[in-house]
Amino acid sequence: MLVVMRQDAAKSDVDHVIASIEGVGLQAHVSEGKFRTIIGAVGDRELIVDMPFEAMPGVEKAIPISKPFKFVASEFKPGGTVVDIGGVLVGRSHMTFIAGPCSIESDTQAIESAIAVKAAGAQLLRGGAFKPRTSPYSFQGLGRPGLELLAECRRVTGLPVVTEVIDARDIDPVSEVADCLQIGARNMQNFLLLSEVGRQDKPVLLKRGFSNTVEELLMSAEYVAKGGNADIVFCERGIRTFEKTTRATLDVAAISVLRKQSHLPVIVDPSHAAGRADLVLPLALAGVAAGADGVMVEVHPDPSSALSDGEQALRLDELKDFIDQVRAVAVAVGSI
Ligand code: PEP
Ligand code: MN
Repeated sequence: MLVVMRQDAAKSDVDHVIASIEGVGLQAHVSEGKFRTIIGAVGDRELIVDMPFEAMPGVEKAIPISKPFKFVASEFKPGGTVVDIGGVLVGRSHMTFIAGPCSIESDTQAIESAIAVKAAGAQLLRGGAFKPRTSPYSFQGLGRPGLELLAECRRVTGLPVVTEVIDARDIDPVSEVADCLQIGARNMQNFLLLSEVGRQDKPVLLKRGFSNTVEELLMSAEYVAKGGNADIVFCERGIRTFEKTTRATLDVAAISVLRKQSHLPVIVDPSHAAGRADLVLPLALAGVAAGADGVMVEVHPDPSSALSDGEQALRLDELKDFIDQVRAVAVAVGSI
């Protein structure tokens, strides 16, 4: 149940609603909007439906949410959420570019990439130190030394860093360096990891699993939000279909559906969907035309020698033109 307070509700009215919710053993989650406060009552449905919220002072209306996800539902925050990643804003009328190599491989590869990413106009640097690889014989990432290189990239360029966490035991060391924790496609339903990142305060970039529905993605975000961390950005990165010409099939509709069903920002990752560099630009354009709030793209100083995902990496000197073209579509569709 969402209890929407009137614009002129007093703090004592808000406190009264919270006390009534907590008084029957339910949880109250308060969202302070610019104009009004919304309180989510979560717990036993039977208890919630009988509570006379609309008779309480300062309450405008009480909206039952029958959906299985609540904190991430659009009704919870009708104005939309803008997530702050190290001072860079993602969501609603901000078009945010996240770029960098798939994996952090060496100091020269990392620093050269970071400097080029900044020069091309991207606002956030990506790069994996811990890599979830399909084969145990593939490069697994540099691990902690990779995190140190990311910290160095941030010192040199000032760009906030997005990097993946694949194990709840690594959350502390990763969040010492990261401005945003990426949960990859393979971990979208690692519920323990989702709950743990929900209990810390760095924003979370949640990628869609390649065999998961949009509703399952929303439920995974609900795990994070339920832990207290509502700074979540969705990422559509393609799903597995019968089509073989691309690595995955970019589900463009999912971007629009997420924008309607949730108040959280949505970005598109055309690199993992395409799996080949020549299709990265058209897929990014499609994603932004469908309403994506940003783009995450893989780049590499020498794609042919990359230790992971080289086939889909743009060269560093291609990034500026890529960003310019995507931005033009964002302007054309009125996103910025
Ligand atoms: C990545 O971003 O490098 C990555 C591993 O992506 P995904 O989890 O979408 O496969
Ligand atoms: Mn990759």
